[in-house]
Amino acid sequence: MAPTLKKRKLSPEHEKPLKEKTLPKPANDAIAPASEDDDEPTDTATPKTFADLGVTESLCDACANLDFKTPTAIQAESIPIALSGRDIIGLAETGSGKTAAFALPILQELLDKPQPMFGLVLAPTRELAYQISQQFEALGSLINVRCAVIVGGMDMVPQSIALAKKPHIVVATPGRLLDHLENTKGFSLAKLRYLVMDEADRLLDLDFGPILDKILQVLPKERHTMLFSATMSTKLDSLTRAALHNPVRVSISTSSYQTVKNLKQKYVFIPHKFKDVYLIHFLHTFTGQTCILFTRTIKETQRLTFLLHALGISSIPLHGQLDQSARLGALNKFRAGSRDILVATDVAARGLDIPSVDLVLNYDLPPDSKTYVHRVGRTARAGKSGVAISIVTQYDVEIYLRIEKALGKKLDEYPADRDEVMIFSERVGEAQRVAINEIKAQDAKQKERGGRGGGKSGIGGGRKRTRDGMDAEEG
Ligand code: AMP
Repeated sequence: MAPTLKKRKLSPEHEKPLKEKTLPKPANDAIAPASEDDDEPTDTATPKTFADLGVTESLCDACANLDFKTPTAIQAESIPIALSGRDIIGLAETGSGKTAAFALPILQELLDKPQPMFGLVLAPTRELAYQISQQFEALGSLINVRCAVIVGGMDMVPQSIALAKKPHIVVATPGRLLDHLENTKGFSLAKLRYLVMDEADRLLDLDFGPILDKILQVLPKERHTMLFSATMSTKLDSLTRAALHNPVRVSISTSSYQTVKNLKQKYVFIPHKFKDVYLIHFLHTFTGQTCILFTRTIKETQRLTFLLHALGISSIPLHGQLDQSARLGALNKFRAGSRDILVATDVAARGLDIPSVDLVLNYDLPPDSKTYVHRVGRTARAGKSGVAISIVTQYDVEIYLRIEKALGKKLDEYPADRDEVMIFSERVGEAQRVAINEIKAQDAKQKERGGRGGGKSGIGGGRKRTRDGMDAEEG
């Protein structure tokens, strides 16, 4: 089934030159000024507007329409460099506005020299690919830009048709893109002008390395390349050497583990057996606020969704065992505000553009500090403030200390009054029993249906990883 994310209808005539349309220019007042922490400022004065960065009028108008009043730090740093034609390694935390930082220069060049298959953006996950495409379409809506999203878990035929229509921009996960490069007649990226690798560290973490090598081999050497990553790793070094030509490094973080300043990070240290009670206490404390609740496993995501339901708290689960349309549907419901709580495995931790999350609750601690940074990056985005609370039990001390060490600071304990928390214990105990029964019933139903190795789309959690399933991530 086709994804249900809202898509703009764009002109089908790909040969038609891209037109600039002029809209009245709104006033620019600062909402997300460039950070003073930039460790490679390129200018003494921070540019105040997109126009100051060299962005053309129609794209400035598109930014204004999206309410992008002032360039963010990564945009202020990287757009002029990209417009000057240099390759870029961009180190920017999640929520920093990095998508527009690479999309605007590409769209600007596309306006000048319109051609099909102009830009390719590689992203690690399907959701991120859809988001990037939406942002390209939103920024390029005034200039008739056409994008195709090529990701695993979806039918290949409509994707081949979309590619045959010669889009300007292809946003893809690497496995499925390589499938099309190998099998789809007439599809070639030989004329490509721009390559972007977004969340590049994650692309490598997900073992896309060998696939990226194959893709790079069929791309023209004469091209511009931008690589964006929230964290820098040694693994990335060889990729940057292979893919980028004399790049400029743009960094808006002073440390690979820096998190944004308006994010309050807290922890609670409690016995493992009280995790659910504390969880419910927090959800009551933050009633009415948007929250992502992170768990380690699909089972725990399901159990917590049942537990919350039994307590009359509506939430929506997001994990890798849901098929693609269910995942997009879950995200859309959450984005649209019909649910306040998203219960997610780390499939939701990276790159997803979920605006205004007030609270990130690490019900289970993440397996490593990099994932921690990405999880908490779901809140306090684009200048807003946010809270992240991590539940630490007797079993998590070692990993918690590793996270603190990587952050380079001790976090404050969240002040939870034990007596107030324990008020919920009886109701939570009942809800736990209900949740366990629901899980049992669900498992029995699945067994009856002949076992569930994954959905029709082949992205099941327990299945052997195929190239097509790689972009689904674990969990
Ligand atoms: P990203 O880091 O690209 O995922 O962007 C994070 C969020 O910031 C997205 O919701 C963007 O729409 C938004 N955004 C990007 N650039 C700006 C800007 N200059 N001003 C305000 N919001 C922005």
